Amino acid sequence: MDSAELVRVNRALMALSAGNRTLLRAGGEQELLEEMCRAVVEVAGYRMAWVGYAQHDAEKTIRPMAYAGFESGFLQRPGATWDESTERGRGASGNAIRTGKPFIVRDVQTDPYFAPWREAATKRGYASVLGLPLRIDGEVGGALVIYAQEPDAFDQAELELLSEMADDLAYGISALRTRIRQREAEEKIRRMAFYNPLTGLPNRLMLRQRLEQAIADAKRNNRSFPLLVLDLDRFREINEALGYVQADKLLQEIGPRLAKALAEQEFLAYIGEDAFAVLLPGGDAEHGADAARRILKALDQPFEAAGLLIDVRASIGIALFPGHGADPDSLILRADAAMYQAKHSSSGYAVHPGGKSREHARRLALVGELHRAIQDNELLLYCQPKAHIRTGTLCGAEALVRWRHPRHGMMALTEVIQIAEQTGLIRPLTYWVIGSALRQCHAWCEAGCEIPLAVNVSARNLREPLFVDRVKGLLSTWGTDPGLLQIEVTESALMEDPAGALETLTRLHAMGIEIGIDDFGTGYSSLSYLKRLPVDTLKVDQSFVRDIAVDANSATIVQSTIDLAHDLSLKVVGEGVENREIWDRLAALGCDMAQGHYLTEPLPAEEFTEWQRRSPWRLGRYETGSSGRASG
Ligand code: C2E
Ligand code: MG
Ligand code: MG
Repeated sequence: MDSAELVRVNRALMALSAGNRTLLRAGGEQELLEEMCRAVVEVAGYRMAWVGYAQHDAEKTIRPMAYAGFESGFLQRPGATWDESTERGRGASGNAIRTGKPFIVRDVQTDPYFAPWREAATKRGYASVLGLPLRIDGEVGGALVIYAQEPDAFDQAELELLSEMADDLAYGISALRTRIRQREAEEKIRRMAFYNPLTGLPNRLMLRQRLEQAIADAKRNNRSFPLLVLDLDRFREINEALGYVQADKLLQEIGPRLAKALAEQEFLAYIGEDAFAVLLPGGDAEHGADAARRILKALDQPFEAAGLLIDVRASIGIALFPGHGADPDSLILRADAAMYQAKHSSSGYAVHPGGKSREHARRLALVGELHRAIQDNELLLYCQPKAHIRTGTLCGAEALVRWRHPRHGMMALTEVIQIAEQTGLIRPLTYWVIGSALRQCHAWCEAGCEIPLAVNVSARNLREPLFVDRVKGLLSTWGTDPGLLQIEVTESALMEDPAGALETLTRLHAMGIEIGIDDFGTGYSSLSYLKRLPVDTLKVDQSFVRDIAVDANSATIVQSTIDLAHDLSLKVVGEGVENREIWDRLAALGCDMAQGHYLTEPLPAEEFTEWQRRSPWRLGRYETGSSGRASG
């Protein structure tokens, strides 16, 4: 190696190591390209260097991305391409890109292919050129072009070092792009976890995070803030009238309309089905009410969907930190509860009335624990039999849920169910009960005891779009005859949303499931309405039954209920039958069935057959397909 060669190898080596440092430091792709070019020129002493990316346009342009050194407008002239068929496609960059191999122009003055650039290059003191391909993610995406001021530069040793540098550069570009893709993927996953894809709005999870943050801030500064929960009224009906596709579109329009009614710092989230939430940055009940009025006003204008003008109404519940709760869950629960009150108010919104009473706090805590209890299978299925009064044979049982609470012991859920109904929790609870009931039915059938089991279902369940499908799914999971499943809905639940309930009950009834109205006499259902409902039985509330032996009034109510039911071809169950006397009275009034402590208190479902064997009560015959009507 002569000394000139040594000098050249040395400068290539310097370029390579400067390039390595650049690679480690560069924060972005553009910076990397610029730093590499600068290393080639400033550290290694070449006259000019640039990086071009191959474009996939019709002209196969090579777009200069970065350069360093004495350029003086060289790259702004009609540029190179990697299209072989044109003259300008045969330079160093074009060749390197096309062939994927280094391309050397030994002498700018004599190389015939360099003609298009000769004059401009000579003027700038470029004597020889090296084009190095940049292989990015498996394909040649561009070239690094280096100009030396002496002809015949770039011998083998130098070429190898510079090629290595170009490979490093290409690797760096790939790595940076991968990093960006990863970041994008992470961002997308983050979005998916925290945003609802349909509306593009933050979801419940994100709302909870924001609430946690807001609570921490408010505690630090001793401030209050309102949380609003908004539920669209009768969205189910809209859903059914328009079909899901159009209803989804409608939901997509409602979001922006709400957002427009809100200020920038007011945080809007979509928390499921037909519910939104708004977190205000600060303020009291009046600020909450003001936001509610703005929102309701924004919904005044009808929406256009499927060529129709649709009126969308909403009910808004408001809860305040710290007055109504000091953690995200209790605030959401209370705003949700207030929203249910708002459904019955003319203004369309309601502020939660209660303070943080100890009783309420206790119940809220129970609801929180119930959630876990459902998951941890702490619930137990109890059941209580019903008997035909005329024949004295067993004709069914009612599933009643019990909770073996780790601290409070065995408990009924009456008070918790009320709150569970105001929150979404009633859904998993009901599915747990139906699933367990069908499992129990299956076990009984295996043991040769076919007896229908009734489950209690809430109004909120009947409003779920997928309720019927899930019941169907559970029935087919256990292969149970639908006639063995009965559904009880309380009269008051029915009257909460009669139209919605009618639809769901009709579908369940059409599947062969018997429907009963529970606690009859405590709600205010109209006769005309009863006639339209697909109902098979009325269960007279125990408050009337209990007293028929002693109170003439109660006896009259029960008597007229029975007559009314029979006129409508409904069967009547008396519940709360505690003794022989009540049983006999009911028999005299023509009541069809009885349930109560006179037969037995509710007992663990798996002990039912054993109890029956030891009891004087005989099983009635269940006829498949007879919709569960046992005959004596
Ligand atoms: P319900 O559906 O009217 O259930 C009958 C209730 O009366 C049961 O109370 C039962 O133990 C009680 N009972 C039965 N016979 C007698 C009697 O002779 N005398 C007296 N004094 N009481 C009797 P329980 O199990 O405490 O359930 C209370 C309510 O909680 C149920 O009233 C029902 O509305 C609700 N519930 C129970 N389990 C579920 C469930 O799985 N889902 C839903 N949504 N509600 C449920
Ligand atoms: Mg019941
Ligand atoms: Mg009842």
